[in-house]
Amino acid sequence: MGHGRNDVMSKNLPERVFFNDTTLRDGEQAPKVAFSREGKIAIAKMLEASGLDQIEVGIPAMGEKEQDTIRDILRLNFFARISTWNRACESDITASIKVGATLVHITLPVSDLQLRAKFDRDCTWALHHLRHMVKFARDQGLEVTVGFEDASRADQDFLIELAQSVTEEGVTRIRYADTVGCLTPRITRMRIGRLARAISVPVEIHAHNDFGLAVANTLAAVEAGAEWVSTTVTGLGERAGNAAMEPVAMALEELYAIKTHLDAVKFEPLARLVRDQSGRPLSVEQPIVGSYAFAHESGIHVAALLADPMTYQAFAPARVGREHAFLLGKHSGRKALRHRLASLGLEVTEDSLKNLLGTIREKEDWTDGELLRLYQEMSNDLNAHR
Ligand SMILES: [Zn+2]
Repeated sequence: MGHGRNDVMSKNLPERVFFNDTTLRDGEQAPKVAFSREGKIAIAKMLEASGLDQIEVGIPAMGEKEQDTIRDILRLNFFARISTWNRACESDITASIKVGATLVHITLPVSDLQLRAKFDRDCTWALHHLRHMVKFARDQGLEVTVGFEDASRADQDFLIELAQSVTEEGVTRIRYADTVGCLTPRITRMRIGRLARAISVPVEIHAHNDFGLAVANTLAAVEAGAEWVSTTVTGLGERAGNAAMEPVAMALEELYAIKTHLDAVKFEPLARLVRDQSGRPLSVEQPIVGSYAFAHESGIHVAALLADPMTYQAFAPARVGREHAFLLGKHSGRKALRHRLASLGLEVTEDSLKNLLGTIREKEDWTDGELLRLYQEMSNDLNAHR
């Protein structure tokens, strides 16, 4: 097989999956995260450069400041579709019109639990109210997508009825939100499959990561027919976050052979930009973009990698603009050390290598500078004894 691609389990997989990035909306709802105007615009530009199909830029109803930022982004005339997030109320939709949005996303809680707690209402009200709000937006000439908040804890028959009803009003996509992240891949597949078969417009999956399943559930939804995925850069989002764009994109391309419009080489700089603008540190083992995502220390692994890179990689790091890093430390072997020294233009005898390795194993993660100094000390010692 030569690569990590799994057997394609379904003949119905889409040829291409579309990405709707919500870093600037749901990502910003992460605790203690508030992007500046400049930060939002910089991230939006980088998302555009990375090939995102759609960017959910924010919530106009939040006020003048947010509206100004959204106006600035709309003026950039991106290739990506720009959408705004709206509660199902006239004032939110009017605020979106005010900033010049042409694509609006209207959200309504759909579980009995949330309908009761947030509005003291029931499903019958939700059905009429949402349809009314969609009609209101459509009458203003807007393209409308609809989001079912807390869909995973709602009556699934009701969801289908609701989806069919708003589709009749001209909605172009339905977002299924696993708001508290309680789906499993198996249930996702069953439910998304049923919903996708019941409606004529694409389904978008919006998964949260409370059980660490956001990426798995997003992929399961694609297996069942979701053509759109809602993700954030590195999974930044409320509580444990959202589905991270980078592993979803790379899994689709590498494991499912499904195309995306994304430029994976931009993922790491994009993640660093979002880290800087959000103040959220980037975990070293973050898939695709973490500083150790392609790093090795084990002597056995490094020796094998040097013989054949496929031994310990799922895909070539160059695909995402990265390269293998060979860290030196407690678990290092001679081949790794020789390789690192050679990359600095240094050659050593087998005996010196053995000597050096003892010192190398006493400390983790040697920098090039430290390695050079160690090499020079050893050479000086040798000369002194000559
Ligand atoms: Zn969300």
